[in-house]
Amino acid sequence: MSTSPADTGTTGVLEGVPLLDHHCHGVTTADLDRSDFESLLTESDWPAPEGTTHLDSQVGFAVRRHCAPVLDLAPFATADQYLRRRCDLGGKDVSERLLRASGMSDLFIETGHRADEILDPVGMAAASGARVFEIVRLERLAEELVGSGCGPADFRAAYDRLLDDRLRTAVGVKSIAAYRVGLDVVTERPDPARVDEAVAAWRADVAGGAPVRLADATIIGHLLWAAVDRGCAIQFHIGYGDADVDLHRCNPLLLTEFLRASRVSGARVFLLHCYPFHREAGYLAHVFPHVYLDVGLAINYTGSRSDEVIAESLELAPFHKLLFSSDAFGAAELFYLGALLFRRGLDRALATFADRDGWPASECRRVAEMVAWRNARRAYRLDDARVAPAAAAATSGPLSDGPR
Ligand SMILES: [Zn+2]
Repeated sequence: MSTSPADTGTTGVLEGVPLLDHHCHGVTTADLDRSDFESLLTESDWPAPEGTTHLDSQVGFAVRRHCAPVLDLAPFATADQYLRRRCDLGGKDVSERLLRASGMSDLFIETGHRADEILDPVGMAAASGARVFEIVRLERLAEELVGSGCGPADFRAAYDRLLDDRLRTAVGVKSIAAYRVGLDVVTERPDPARVDEAVAAWRADVAGGAPVRLADATIIGHLLWAAVDRGCAIQFHIGYGDADVDLHRCNPLLLTEFLRASRVSGARVFLLHCYPFHREAGYLAHVFPHVYLDVGLAINYTGSRSDEVIAESLELAPFHKLLFSSDAFGAAELFYLGALLFRRGLDRALATFADRDGWPASECRRVAEMVAWRNARRAYRLDDARVAPAAAAATSGPLSDGPR
């Protein structure tokens, strides 16, 4: 990290602690113009209104405050100065600088979103110096099958084979049910005959010219229960995200029946992002033994307020159920800020608890290590001998001393 404890008002409790990002995506190495850059720093799919900028926001101010010095600029360089410097250095150099300065030891990369625009896991390992593991998006697998002509007679068997094949190397799966159908409809294991009917209807739509986009609750339920049957690590998008999400259908409490039904399956459920439902998610992690959460994404977008969001995530959730993620996509700034703001916020939260109730420094350090990497390694069973990184940088560095 280029930011020392002294200049962020922190205690240094996370000094030297590895950081495992259990949900992120690749970055672009393109030279970004102003509108490309702004579109990567907002969840809106609209340009800012005439005469305004998306950078007048918590994340925009955080970029100017914290990322500008990584590009050799003064803190709070103007947006134009920052973009000019970004172009002068080139997208590849900027991405490598920010990724390496983030000091992540391990990245779990979800590969199912706009994969043609960003670095793949091998490219991310080379650019970041981190070990990289893959997370597979379930809906994408089904779309690959139906897009290549798979019909109702062989869909379920073909999906089983494809999922098993991908799980030979991936450490977990992700569902975007929240985006496509809402979390209130994935409760029960669907009847196979109804799955076949739904696949037939989807195939007919695609044959009629519709895009290959899975938005059927029965099929998505089938994909999820196949993952439960395999005892997978299953990530769920929860809470806010792009403009096509219906936020009122993304409350994790809507998963309560699913969580009850999957409790003894061996599957582990990771509630991603969660904002503004991170307290509901904390409750679920509290009562269900197989439920975990993070407040990634929200950390970047709440910027100077992320300390409070992180502290709130440490209310009901047991400390062995909290994980770190950045949910960075596209702009390497989001990796750097995700790591910096998380370290700072966790440090400050623990310092507050120490101040109020005398938490010993050794206990603060133990909790910090759990949240930063130990919980993820245990919950994803990375110490299982079968699990190896999908990619790792050829260079040795601090990462070879990272979490095991
Ligand atoms: Zn994501």
